[in-house]
Amino acid sequence: MSKIEDVVSLCKRRGFVFPGSDVYGGFAGTWDYGPLGVILKKKIMDEWWEFFVESREDMYGVDAAILMNPKTWVASGHTATFADPLVECKECKSRFRADKIADGINESVSTEEFLDLHVKCPVCGKENWGPIRKFNMMFSTHVGAVLPDDAGDLAEKSIAYLRPETAQGIFTNYRNVVDTFYPSLPFGIAQQGKAFRNEISPRDFILRDRECSQMEIEYFVKPDTWEENFEKMRGIFHEFLNEKMGLDASLIHELEVAPEDRAHYSKRTIDYMFDYPNGTEELMGLAYRTDFDLNNIARESGKSMDYRDKVTGETFVPHVIEPSIGVERLFLAVLSNAYTEDMVGDDKRIVLKMPENLAPYKFCVSPLLKNKIELVEKAREVYVLLREKYSNVTWDDSGNIGKRYRKQDEIGTPKCVVIDFDTLEDNSVTVRDRDTTEQIRVKIEEL
Ligand SMILES: [Zn+2]
Repeated sequence: MSKIEDVVSLCKRRGFVFPGSDVYGGFAGTWDYGPLGVILKKKIMDEWWEFFVESREDMYGVDAAILMNPKTWVASGHTATFADPLVECKECKSRFRADKIADGINESVSTEEFLDLHVKCPVCGKENWGPIRKFNMMFSTHVGAVLPDDAGDLAEKSIAYLRPETAQGIFTNYRNVVDTFYPSLPFGIAQQGKAFRNEISPRDFILRDRECSQMEIEYFVKPDTWEENFEKMRGIFHEFLNEKMGLDASLIHELEVAPEDRAHYSKRTIDYMFDYPNGTEELMGLAYRTDFDLNNIARESGKSMDYRDKVTGETFVPHVIEPSIGVERLFLAVLSNAYTEDMVGDDKRIVLKMPENLAPYKFCVSPLLKNKIELVEKAREVYVLLREKYSNVTWDDSGNIGKRYRKQDEIGTPKCVVIDFDTLEDNSVTVRDRDTTEQIRVKIEEL
């Protein structure tokens, strides 16, 4: 098993992930994706989209605005309940999320329960706590031409929030999708996009950041069929995680979330936990949300959320199964699953054994020697050819061939193609395999 420090270090060294605003010393809870990170992230998102939306007849995609009418968050319950328990140390003024510095409590912990645990301040070591206060995690902003010193009412009316989840952008488009496409039940609406949460203490690398990308589906079903649809979705996600993301099934564990720990809207939730190098953490959630959201929207908007059954003509509000996954969590799962240290001869090497469909580059092309013009010219020819065919092909003529292999191993390139003097004679190249390090001769036209 890899160590989280090793994965973080590789991410920075090879241009996958950098600290946000790095040049200014960083900005807590933000991360920037470098040239290779962008490719990997996009591939993960594209695979998901292809698997759950494009290849299915029952799925519809949307891309809703990040800024939404504030009524959205009143209806969804976020204005009232999207809050973490904030506790302040009266000695050193440090602030913490109470349920993260003590064991055996959840977000709804009371001041009394917390004080009974006699937790010491992680910063100063003293035990002198203020009361637990609810801290709403939505980022607020002002929309329109409003100045900070405008009279209270004007400023208040202009408040909007950066969406804390993509799900509500789906629910608020349910009516539009039904009216324009009239799909048969069950059907799903899918969305990928940014969501924002003002975490009290962002940590664990990209696992708990303030700005993240989500991939969510709201799957609308007849109320009495929720269980069978829940089971289907449950199985399909394991298939996706294993076959498309290459995640080792033994690292994924289902956690049936107890009623008292479930979100207020859910009647059943399974968390898919993943064994990250720094501990087991939630990778994704599968929740049965009943008709909670659509009913709330109907109440707040005054619009009907009824669906008319195509066969029986009866009208009802569909129920919802929601699989929700964070891109960054999946990104880190893919990287830490792939991260391997092994021995090649007497040398230790680091290799990302990533599935080929996710590797940032499919091939690396290089001339055996950089200073032989005829080799370089031939290698450029092969490079251009492969780029036209596969697009994700990289070029490397730095250092010696051994160093190039190590570098490509570290970024997960499955095949290295080397052009040598024999190539000039017989149009064959050396193809070296990332995982086995075996080398074979292949004709250029067979690549
Ligand atoms: Zn303290």
